[in-house]
Amino acid sequence: MDESKFCTGCGHAVEPDMQFCPQCGKVISGSAAEASLKDQEKEINSLVLMARRNWLIFLLAIYAIPVIIISAIALFEASSMASAIWASDEFRDWMQSHGFDFTQQNIQNYLTYAAGLGLGSGISAMISLICVYMRKMWIIAVITCLAATILCFWSIIGIIIGFLVTWMIIGSRDIFEDSTDNTGNAGS
Ligand SMILES: [Zn+2]
Repeated sequence: MDESKFCTGCGHAVEPDMQFCPQCGKVISGSAAEASLKDQEKEINSLVLMARRNWLIFLLAIYAIPVIIISAIALFEASSMASAIWASDEFRDWMQSHGFDFTQQNIQNYLTYAAGLGLGSGISAMISLICVYMRKMWIIAVITCLAATILCFWSIIGIIIGFLVTWMIIGSRDIFEDSTDNTGNAGS
């Protein structure tokens, strides 16, 4: 539009079609080179966000998948596991030495309770994973990750890692598409 442009870096006069200042080498504002630099910056930002998202998916998956499988098996097999434990000599000895008097039903109830907690924790973590994967419902991702952590109260290490991952999700709001205020105006 304007015939004569000037470098924003050094004030040297530049031709309208120039990409870089011949004097100082600075990229000319409004040029195609500047637009491409901005595009690259955007691309790097989105790569960083995607890397963080992949990390969260990995952390949630290595917890959720085995915990769901093991808990589901334990829930399904609680009755036979209880009878096997109850019949074992080690368990009898342990019970006698501690003065406990558990029935087979007590053991089964305990196993069912523990497996139920594990299944709830694993499914919560899986819901959080799905939210992170879809990049939607940030608040649901935070709440379900927190729920997975609280249901893991029987493990100190689980609690610590769970709170760390929850904290990571809280800090990763940028990766969720619904976190931006200007809806429908996603710059491509
Ligand atoms: Zn210049």
